[in-house]
This record gives sequence, C-alpha cells and structure tokens, in this order.
Amino acid sequence: MTNLILLGPPGAGKGTQARLLVESRGMVQLSTGDMLRDARSSGTEMGRRVAEVMDQGHLVTDEIVIGLIRERLNAGGAGGGYIFDGFPRTLPQADALGALMGELGQRIDHVIAMQVDDEALVDRVSGRSTCGTCGEVYHDRTRPIPGDGRCVTCGGTTFKRRGDDNADSLRVRLLAYYKQTSPLVGYYHAKGLLRGVDGLADIADVSAAIAAILDGTAGPG
Ligand code: AMP
Repeated sequence: MTNLILLGPPGAGKGTQARLLVESRGMVQLSTGDMLRDARSSGTEMGRRVAEVMDQGHLVTDEIVIGLIRERLNAGGAGGGYIFDGFPRTLPQADALGALMGELGQRIDHVIAMQVDDEALVDRVSGRSTCGTCGEVYHDRTRPIPGDGRCVTCGGTTFKRRGDDNADSLRVRLLAYYKQTSPLVGYYHAKGLLRGVDGLADIADVSAAIAAILDGTAGPG
C-alpha cells in the first residue's frame, strides 16, 4: 500500500490527478477541501463555521481539518493507499498526519510537489467547473463542457463552479499557500520524501510522471 501527498498551490491540478489515481489504482482520495464543502452543503454546524473563512480564501483551523482526516483514517478501508489532496497545508498539520499514520502502522511514501507558475493558476482557477454528479473536472478553455451539456464521464447535466474561484479569493489563497503551505516543501525534502513534477504539462504527461514516481521507475528529481 502506497500513501501519497499531492502538494501544490490552488489550481496546480491536485484534484484532477487524484481522481485519475483513484480510477487507475483504486487509491482513496482524501481532500479536506471536498470534506469541508460537503460539510457546508449539508448544513452542519462545522460547515456553517467555516463557510466565511473558505469564501475569503483563508485556511480553516488546523484543529478542524486534522479532526476530519483523523475520522477518515480511523474508518480505514484504503487497501490501495491514500492520496492526501489539499492536506496537510501547515506544519502542525504535517506533524499531525505523521503521528496519525504512525498510530495506524502506516507511513507517507511519497510527497509530490506540483510545480506551476502563478499566472497559469489564475487562468486555470477562473475557468474551472466540475460535474455536479461525479466531480469530473472541466475548464472553459482547455476542457470545455461538451456542446450537448452532458458530462463525458457520467452524462450528468449539472455543473458547479466553486464560490472561492474568483480573483480576490485566489489572491488570498495564493498568499496562504506561500506563507503557510510552501514550508512543507522543505519539511518533506528534509525527510527525503519530496519529488517534483511539472504541473504545467498535459494532464496525461503529469499522470505519467506521477506513475513513474509511484512505480519507482522515475529518474532522480
Ligand atoms: P481546496 O479545495 O483544497 O482548494 O480547499 C478549499 C478551501 O478549504 C481552502 O481555501 C481553505 O479555506 C479550506 N481548506 C481545505 N483544506 C484545508 C487544510 N488542509 N487546512 C486549512 N484549510 C483548508
């Protein structure tokens, strides 16, 4: 079983690659962003508490997201391994994840940093939408919703745009990434776990680069 962290700023392609790994390898995607959005739309107390923070683009507290991850890990059931997508985002979250994995007799095998430049992120984030039924990811310019208005994967006809995918929120999210999350690059490098991929490459090329890392066939870098 292989456990993987996808690290990168908003719009780097973490969610897209996580979905592909779920399909191709039977891994389990743990996205704290998705968990928080679910909590919001199901109207839980926690969802109400975090809504404003998320819309502004700030990070919700470590306590909340660590609690969500702890719950999922304790529920078990990831024979194919976990993909951590959007978690950890702070050093305390990284320490907590290490401790939780240790308690379960597991470990993080790879941390993959998806490298992209800021201008590309603005373009990617401002054009994106997802299928409301299956979560398939679309982009106005690079992967438009088909002309018949049906999702290529499931045929669904409703599509969602995230409330925080706007220029103001993105600016705050990028700042949060550089201030709070990017130190994790050094943290995991020091642990010998960090690998980088070019997040600006085609989706298939990024997948191939990730597969080579997971399969141990990638060169150093
Ligand atoms: P994402 O879908 O990963 O871009 O996350 C959307 C929003 O959820 C973020 O902008 C934060 O407000 C919140 N969020 C998601 N994951 C975390 C995390 N690990 N720590 C703190 N806040 C998070």
